[in-house]
Amino acid sequence: MTPEQPGSEFMKREDASSYETETPVLYEARDGIASITMNRPQFNNAQNSQMTYALDDAFRHAVDDDAVRVIVLRGNGKHFSAGHDIGTPGRDVNKSFDRAHLWWDHANKPGAEFNYAREQEVYVGMCRRWHDIPKPTIAMVQGACVAGGLMLAWICDLIIASEDAFFQDPVVRMGIPGVEYFAHAQELNPRIAKEFLFLGERMKADRAYMMGMLNRVVPAGELEQQTYEIAARIAQQPRLGLALTKQVLNRAEDLQGLRATIDMAYGYHQLAHAHGQVLGNGHLGGHDARSMVSANKQAATPGVKQ
Ligand code: ZN
Repeated sequence: MTPEQPGSEFMKREDASSYETETPVLYEARDGIASITMNRPQFNNAQNSQMTYALDDAFRHAVDDDAVRVIVLRGNGKHFSAGHDIGTPGRDVNKSFDRAHLWWDHANKPGAEFNYAREQEVYVGMCRRWHDIPKPTIAMVQGACVAGGLMLAWICDLIIASEDAFFQDPVVRMGIPGVEYFAHAQELNPRIAKEFLFLGERMKADRAYMMGMLNRVVPAGELEQQTYEIAARIAQQPRLGLALTKQVLNRAEDLQGLRATIDMAYGYHQLAHAHGQVLGNGHLGGHDARSMVSANKQAATPGVKQ
């Protein structure tokens, strides 16, 4: 992928995506626990809209099944999620979908309206929707949890990570003030959030645990067993009691500023996308998947302690 040409994003763009799988998300329910597995391991579970809508279907299925008490969100392969899809053959940003919210279709919209409408639907809208699922959710995180991957972990109620997990939001390099679901200032002390974003470095699981972002850090070989043990214990609790507890804590988070912060940050986020376009660098500030992977590798081994 090359940086987009001036003006290219102000015109309707054709969908050229081709999917490597028809099952970007796997679903299984057993013993009161639904397992929702992102299944694009060859692309480190990069999230295209095909995956986002499949995740939404899977969450809906888990909510509708009375036998399901707890939901585990996980990623197939070495990594939980490398973030939003910015460069695989399955990148489907120009495609229309049967939307879950009442924002209009983005695909034929000009200028900044394209990203504004699209990201309301597939990023902020979906993340809020999943954050408020009335059943407890647990993110089971191994390897990379980067940018859009953070959003998926953060919307879960608990996060259990393996010792090899790392967390990173490198999008400031694109000129963008963090990912769309801006929970950074809630998940981290604001001063640490600034460091996390300004440097764009990997935060290892042990430090994320110290910051209160994670519930447990466990050896990689025990990640699944320990996650499902905790899920099984939660599954013993009464359904409505769990749902009410979750609602109270989610609304408490909103009172602490989560919802308002995300709304405020979304405007700046869209300004950044539009700024890149006005300069003729595309909405990712002239970056693409390759340049971000290479810069991320450099950020992984800086001279300072991570
Ligand atoms: Zn965005």
